[in-house]
Amino acid sequence: MSTNLAPSTSLTPQQKSQLAKLEKRLRRHVGQAIAQYNMIEDGDRIMVCLSGGKDSYAMLSILMILKESAPINFELIAVNLDQKQPGFPEHVLPNYLTSLGVEYKIIEEDTYAIVKDKIPEGKTTCSLCSRLRRAVLYKAAKALGATKIALGHHRDDMIETMMLNMFYGGKLKSMPAKLVSDNGEHVVIRPLAFCKESELIQYAQLKAFPIIPCNLCGSQPNLQRQNIKKMLNDWHENFPGRIESMFTAMQNIVPSHLCDSELFDFKSINAHSGIINGGDTAFDQETHFSSTSNDTSAAINVDQANVLNITEIK
Ligand code: SF4
Repeated sequence: MSTNLAPSTSLTPQQKSQLAKLEKRLRRHVGQAIAQYNMIEDGDRIMVCLSGGKDSYAMLSILMILKESAPINFELIAVNLDQKQPGFPEHVLPNYLTSLGVEYKIIEEDTYAIVKDKIPEGKTTCSLCSRLRRAVLYKAAKALGATKIALGHHRDDMIETMMLNMFYGGKLKSMPAKLVSDNGEHVVIRPLAFCKESELIQYAQLKAFPIIPCNLCGSQPNLQRQNIKKMLNDWHENFPGRIESMFTAMQNIVPSHLCDSELFDFKSINAHSGIINGGDTAFDQETHFSSTSNDTSAAINVDQANVLNITEIK
């Protein structure tokens, strides 16, 4: 992400109007996510985790705007963990956050040295690094009296995570919009859950956020995630609407039509159970193909069935 963009004060009238529309859309999406998952309640003190990347800057910006107009009272405290990576520009976040007038805390913890010490050269460092980061941030949330921890993951992160879990983890799961942390002590929220990454990139450019590069640790990018991202981008190009549909599907789960017997009690189904979630359409093929699909065979089959007036199997 480039940082050498004009600051928002020197935007052209066209860019200003673009920014206003984009901000309105992001506010709406964040507001919807907050409402749908009851992410923020009266009296909350939200620890907003800032990495110095585009997403967390956008999250803080939108939450600050929403705070102004929200019908409830809540506090924001921006927190950054300085992991002592070589070349980390220590002054950038304090200067920026001071200019915003938001309460903030920079935590210094040399997790970089621990990671370098424990992980052999050439091996992936992200797993230990993020575990250490998580532990430090949980501790900070407690010390700062935060009632919620806000993370800047967006819709596309959530879809990528779902695909990664399916492809490599054998699980149908993603990043939760709101959940209790793995140590059972904190409520973690993702207010950008409904925001598209492309809009956050555009927003960061127009707002000229002082982006801190994310490769200071020298770690290789996660290749599996990069591949999934590329696959999803290709889909987006070739099949418009597919990504939106996938995210809608993540909010529209039908356990009776999947295979997890822990999630749905298949064993007790019998002829008296009634029609569950539309029932099993048995011999019909699904017909809801998108307009971009060329596969009309299923629709033809259903039409043929109608013509033949086949309404029940005896
Ligand atoms: S990319 Fe670097 S800083 Fe980020 S999690 Fe991996 S090791 Fe840590």
